[in-house]
Amino acid sequence: MSRDYYSPDEWEKIIAFSKTRETPFLVVLLDRIQQKFKSFHTNFPHAKIYYAVKSNPDTEVLSLLRDLGSYFDIASIYELDRVLHLGVSPDRVSFGNTIKKARHVREAYDKGVRLFTSDSEADIRNLAKEAPGSRIFFRVLMDSITSDADWPLSRKFGCQPRMLTELVSLAADLGLDPYGISFHVGSQQREISAWDAAIANVHSLFEWMKGERIHLRAMNMGGGFPADYLAKTNPLSVYAEEINRYIGSYFGDAIPEIYLEPGRGLVGEAGVLVSETILISKKSKSDLKRWVYTDVGIFNGLMETLGEAIKYPVYTEKNGTTGDVILAGPTCDSMDIMYEHFKYQLPLSLEIGDRIYWLSTGAYTASYSSVEFNGFPPLKTYYL
Ligand SMILES: *Cc1c(COP(=O)(O)O)cnc(C)c1O
Repeated sequence: MSRDYYSPDEWEKIIAFSKTRETPFLVVLLDRIQQKFKSFHTNFPHAKIYYAVKSNPDTEVLSLLRDLGSYFDIASIYELDRVLHLGVSPDRVSFGNTIKKARHVREAYDKGVRLFTSDSEADIRNLAKEAPGSRIFFRVLMDSITSDADWPLSRKFGCQPRMLTELVSLAADLGLDPYGISFHVGSQQREISAWDAAIANVHSLFEWMKGERIHLRAMNMGGGFPADYLAKTNPLSVYAEEINRYIGSYFGDAIPEIYLEPGRGLVGEAGVLVSETILISKKSKSDLKRWVYTDVGIFNGLMETLGEAIKYPVYTEKNGTTGDVILAGPTCDSMDIMYEHFKYQLPLSLEIGDRIYWLSTGAYTASYSSVEFNGFPPLKTYYL
């Protein structure tokens, strides 16, 4: 069951490493991240790849990507410090969060960052004052498109196109360098046509600004590239082929500089979370459903199961007939239930103490883990 997400060699490595260790923990296969990075490069040969640090900010991942020549998209000055401490030059960093304090803008500027994203007048005014002359991406709102994504970034980011054009002019007036338009189609976006609509929007905005004699030079396509979860996705090459075709069809010979900011699509499939079954129980003698409680839950790694949004494939070493289960975490919080409405199936032979492996958990797991809720420590990560 679900074994085919990893090769036999990878399984051997994961299981041999995990055997003697106390669960829960995340195992990350660095080779997979390296392969994915190369695949992004091959499939988008002209794009600059800015790894979205928030998806896994560990030193092992950042230094691997640094050595592979990646750029970095940061969400805060704290992520900036992590990246700079590894010797990454600030001209390889983009401050992509549209929500930031004026003094953090200044700190990033003082440390050498010259590329920012914005979607509001107040932030543009802060940038003009605290990061004078910097290059700016303007983020366009994608609410109707992101709602298709499994983990939408929705209404929180971006502004309406009309307002965006005014922000571009304002930025130019204030001495900033209006560099390009950015968007994010929503995380775990499986619908390829989302990029079509987004790129069409960006192209119209480029044309509009030309009319104002402002020549935008870059398109930042954000992240959104899906990982293989319970619902498998097309390989990256299929997305890339379509997206590159869209870019060509809108921009023709005048293709702007392309930026990508993959997080999930780059590191998601590299991780396997290893957990142990703490308890299996029923609510009444005749109950057909088993409650399976594991030592990993919403608060120590599986945050993205909120609302059952992300459905991770799970694997156990037990075989045979399966039955419905409700999967829940170890804490004394009633929202610590991963899957209840969507019925996962696990072998009837599953016993307390058996391991459950959560696949494709390399993104947004360890970094989302609480510090000490119910006394449970944050999720450990090991790199193989
Ligand atoms: C979160 C985020 C990303 C990464 O998104 P994924 O869907 O994980 O690839 C990229 N860019 C920005 C601005 C983000 O906020």
